Parts: sequence; structure tokens; C-alpha cells
Amino acid sequence: MLPRIGLCAVVSLLTVTSSLMAQTKPAKKPAKPLSAKQIHSSSLIIDTHADTTQRLLDDNFDMANPPAGDQGYLDFAKAKAGNLGAEFFSIWVEPKEFKGQYAHRTLALIDSVYQQAAKHPDQMTMAFSSTDIERAHREHKLAALLGIEGGHSIENDLRLLRAYYRLGVRYMTLTWSNTNEWADSSGDIDDTSVQHHNGLTEFGKDVVYEMNRLGMIVDISHVSDKTFYDTLLASRAPVIASHSSSRALTNHPRNMTDDMLREIGRRGGVVMVNYYSAFVDEKWRQAYEAQSKERSAAIDAVAQQYKDVDPVTRYRETDKVAKQWAAKIPRPPFEAIIDHIDHVAKVAGIDHTGLGSDFDGTPSMPEGLDSAADLPKITEGLLKRGYTAEQIRKVLGGNLMRVFREVETVSRQLKTQERPSLARQMNAPK
Ligand SMILES: [Zn+2]
Repeated sequence: MLPRIGLCAVVSLLTVTSSLMAQTKPAKKPAKPLSAKQIHSSSLIIDTHADTTQRLLDDNFDMANPPAGDQGYLDFAKAKAGNLGAEFFSIWVEPKEFKGQYAHRTLALIDSVYQQAAKHPDQMTMAFSSTDIERAHREHKLAALLGIEGGHSIENDLRLLRAYYRLGVRYMTLTWSNTNEWADSSGDIDDTSVQHHNGLTEFGKDVVYEMNRLGMIVDISHVSDKTFYDTLLASRAPVIASHSSSRALTNHPRNMTDDMLREIGRRGGVVMVNYYSAFVDEKWRQAYEAQSKERSAAIDAVAQQYKDVDPVTRYRETDKVAKQWAAKIPRPPFEAIIDHIDHVAKVAGIDHTGLGSDFDGTPSMPEGLDSAADLPKITEGLLKRGYTAEQIRKVLGGNLMRVFREVETVSRQLKTQERPSLARQMNAPK
């Protein structure tokens, strides 16, 4: 506490003290700027989207013991080399192959992440909150979080949504590439055989409200443009795009237009840049689009060949073909990723930019980005572009932590308020 003297007296006292100190203490040398290595190794790094979950469940993949020469993007050694602190494991249910068993498949994927954490408690720990992430980071363990990719997982039932939250799911992407019964997707918006809703339905708005109340982050990657704007208006908490890049640089409907980037920024959210070649390099995207007819025919032929086997095997075989076709196109330069981060930072704002790799979920990534072990190159790239250590730390994980805390705060507030009567627990059948 300050003694009872006037403000001027305090100021003059401080002035005298500081000038005395200036006389007795040698002038401080300006601190040497931190190297990229120093910044990266002392940061909390959070990635908001990896599809490694399918490997855990379907391939019995062990993150501590990958097979020799494994081409995967994420295991414990690679995470450690890249100083990855937290990963959101994607809970993605292929909508055609698993029709009629969405909840079952969702639960199996969730369980596979728990199994991995239980098998290697010294290396990975489940995390359900922003403080859990910090705790795991202090313990030098990878924090494993769960994010559902595609609202079809809730089978039009808010009770399932709540059950997933209780199991630890902390974000949900409202749609995957398929329009569901309450939200339109960017993936099939031009397909006239699909029944669309002009964005988010009333039940869809209830889903968003219930996510806000629970404390589950609303993720708008994959949704149609109209669903995006409807969701921004409906959500009481900031939203994220867990794995989307810039449409102004690479004209893909999965990417965000500059207006969308600005809107997410204005409302306090974060856009996590996706590294997929088709999302970060316009030339690559066009080349991939040009082969789409031939590629689809090749994939369909293999699907036909495996039509009588289980969906997991069929998916594995068709995925192989998709990767072979993508490999025909030379990988874009690494700088493509930095260009996108830089663009999002300039348009949405440095406080609204993050990383959403899509590890193990795409057939191609730029040159030099072969796994989570290459994450330090992102810090190097940003430092070279003139970003400060403080700004880089925000992109690496600080911004996601801020949004996560805000979502938790909004949830606490909503829980104290009287709950508006949601139209229904289930989407009424048409
Ligand atoms: Zn995705």
C-alpha cells in the first residue's frame, strides 16, 4: 500500500529514486533477440486437427512404436521433435461407409484415443480443459484432446451431444464434407441431389446453443458459407476454424474468404491454418482438380473391387489410390504454409491465427513438412517474416488457449442462466 501522500509527491519520489538508480546501476544492454529454436522450444504448441485417430483404431497403430519407415505424420517421437504440446484428435466418421452406425463408430474412435493414453501414461494424457493442457505441458506429456469432425455423429440428438461432451469431446465441426440434417456443408453445396437448408436450421441453432452451454468449442471448418454466417450469429462464444486456410490465396471452398477471416477475428475466434497442398497452393489445387475425373474413376473401380469387404479395408484401399494420384503432382514449396499464416494474421489479426495441420488426413503436404517433427520450421518461417517471439507464441498455441478459456467462461455463465426451452431434443423427422 502507498503511504498517504499526494500523487505528485509519489511521482517526484519515484523520479528521484529512478535517477539515483540510474547513477548507481550500469546501463542495461538490450536483450539479444531469441532465436527460432529458443522461441519454439519454450512455447506451448497446440495443433487442432489430426486424423491419426483412424490409425489408432483401424491399424492398431502404436504412437510409441511406429513400424519401421512409417510415413505417418504423428507419433510420440515426432511430436517430441516438433515440441508439440497438445493435439486435438479428430473423431471423424465416414458418412457413407458407416451409415446407420455413426454413434457406434464415434464411440470406437473416442475409445482408441483413451486406449493410447492408457497404454503410454508417461507420454500422453487426456485433456479436457485449458488448465489440463497447461498441466500436461508442465509434465512434458502430449495433451490429447478430442474433436468431433461432422455433426452427423450426434444423430440429430442433443442427448448424444451431451454424452460426447461427458466423454471429453471439446470441439465439434458442425459438418464434414456432407450436409447433415441441420447444417449445410461446403463439400456438397453444389450437389442438387442433396437436400440443403439454406445454412443452419432451427435445430442447428439449438445444437450451437447446447455446445455453448456445455463448453464445447464450435468449429466452422467444412461448413457452407451460409452456415458459417448463421453460426457466427447463433454462437454466444467465439468460434474456431480448426483446419482451414485462406481462400484469397487458394480458391478452395474449404478455405475462408477475407470477409470470413475478418468476422472471426472481430468476434474473438481463431482460424487454424491447414497445411494440405490443395488448400495452400493454387497451382497444386488446380492440378488436383484437373485430374479429378480420372482419379474418381480409379477410386470407384477399387471401391467396386472391395465392395464386399468391411468398410475399414475398403477405405484403406481407396485412400491408397487417392494418395497415389496426389503424388503425381509435385509438392508445393514450404513457404506456401507461411504465406497462409501470414495472410490470416494480416486479415483476421495476429490474435486470431493458429495451426490446424490436418496431419494424417490429407494426401499431400508442402515440401519439407513431412511430420510433426517439422513444426519448428513454421517458427523459423514466421521469424524470418518479421514476426516477434510474442506474436509467434500466439499463433503456436496462445490464441487457442484464449478461445478455449473464453468458451469455458461462456459455458459457466450460461449454466447460471435459465435455459431457454430448446425447440426439441431431437431433430423432428421430415
Ligand atoms: Zn477435415
